[in-house]
Amino acid sequence: KRYSFGESMFKGHSMLAPFTAGWQTTDLHPLVIEKSEGSYVYDINGKKYLDALAGLWATSLGGSEPRLVDAAIAQLKKLPFYHSFWNRTTLPSLDLAKELLEMFTARKMGKAFFVNSGSEANDTQVKLVWYYNNALGRPDKKKFIARAKSYHGSTLIAASLSGLPALHQKFDLPAPFVLHTDCPHYWRYHLPGETEEEFSTRLAKNLEQLILKEGPETIAAFIAEPVMGAGGVIVPPSTYFEKVQAVVKKYDILFIADEVICAFGRLGTMFGCDKYNIKPDLVSLAKALSSAYLPIGAVLVSPEISDVIHAQSNKLGSFSHGFTYSGHPAACAVAIEALKIYKERNIVDQVNKIAPRFQDGIKAFSDSPIIGEIRGTGLILGTEFTDNKSPNDPFPPEWGVGAYFGAQCEKHGMLVRVAGDNIMMSPPYIISQGEVDELISIYGKALKETEKKVQE
Ligand code: PLP
Repeated sequence: KRYSFGESMFKGHSMLAPFTAGWQTTDLHPLVIEKSEGSYVYDINGKKYLDALAGLWATSLGGSEPRLVDAAIAQLKKLPFYHSFWNRTTLPSLDLAKELLEMFTARKMGKAFFVNSGSEANDTQVKLVWYYNNALGRPDKKKFIARAKSYHGSTLIAASLSGLPALHQKFDLPAPFVLHTDCPHYWRYHLPGETEEEFSTRLAKNLEQLILKEGPETIAAFIAEPVMGAGGVIVPPSTYFEKVQAVVKKYDILFIADEVICAFGRLGTMFGCDKYNIKPDLVSLAKALSSAYLPIGAVLVSPEISDVIHAQSNKLGSFSHGFTYSGHPAACAVAIEALKIYKERNIVDQVNKIAPRFQDGIKAFSDSPIIGEIRGTGLILGTEFTDNKSPNDPFPPEWGVGAYFGAQCEKHGMLVRVAGDNIMMSPPYIISQGEVDELISIYGKALKETEKKVQE
């Protein structure tokens, strides 16, 4: 039994933010999920699926953590809503801000600003940076550099920052103040004989050239995901962030770490910045911040920036930005509980214990003739299907190799993310060894069937 939504206005489109369920879905008979339990979700026919993407890289604590539900209910009973404007706020938002600032140790952060999503976090970053530069009397330092294949969200500015052409085409994006530099995907883009370190050096040089061409005095900030998610799970090559940070620092360009996917343990460190020794000026958070039980995102701001904004706000007027639901008390209460659980259960250790089984188990399929590359770290992993094991020999898009693989996974009871011939997985941090084995077994079956189909 599948629901039917009638003729879809955007048939064939895979990336639309939901307007109605009918507009979002690519076929007219979407898979309707009804309930969740641990690492599994169930559809309306009662079929069980291993949720290998944790919803959308999000339900880090799985789909049935009672403490998160209880935290929401307790807060809803006490104070379901109050806003955080004009020097008014609520205890949960203050407590969450304090907790986040303590937890983020890659460098000292000064303030947290709450939003409702990763996109809003990144839009907020742009306004913070502009306000900061205006306060410093350098209003021309306005441009942002992001990277090809990055994903930073769907609002106009976050989509502009993103480096995925589908998010720009037909939308008059990116906005003119956004520039894109290289995607750090070694397998796809390295030159013959080039080592990872040499590749990183070349990319850092390209970044520097772009900055010099535009004029360093016009470049405000550089934004990067520690590991790129939606662009195909791109793990940075050795020394990449070290070299890129040196360049942006040299030209007084701020570093924004988009930790929307990587934070709270996904990579086997509490934050992606810890893994790659990134010292950001600003950080974007969402998703696992509340294990996605309620929508919430956050921006962490360095003390240097928050101090300037505070000191200058009399002159420029207050930082006039925020959303009705910024710091929503119930969402904050859930996030506080999620952070408590991460700490109590040593979630980072837990991820590090299970990650090798997951990574090694899937990477054992690397020899498949239809797989170009399997890449990942911690509990995030991407598979790219190509012919001849070469990044330059994609399968004809009309073959739909990735989609076929995704459909086989679904048939066998597992949900993955499909983007063209890229398959992405990011299971909940609570996934058990047995569940990882099941994930690998379903992946193997789907792969065999896909190999057979490609050979037909
Ligand atoms: N940044 C990154 C790295 C993401 O992966 C996403 C969403 O997948 C976003 C930002 C946007 O977050 P949201 O969908 O909550 O707006």
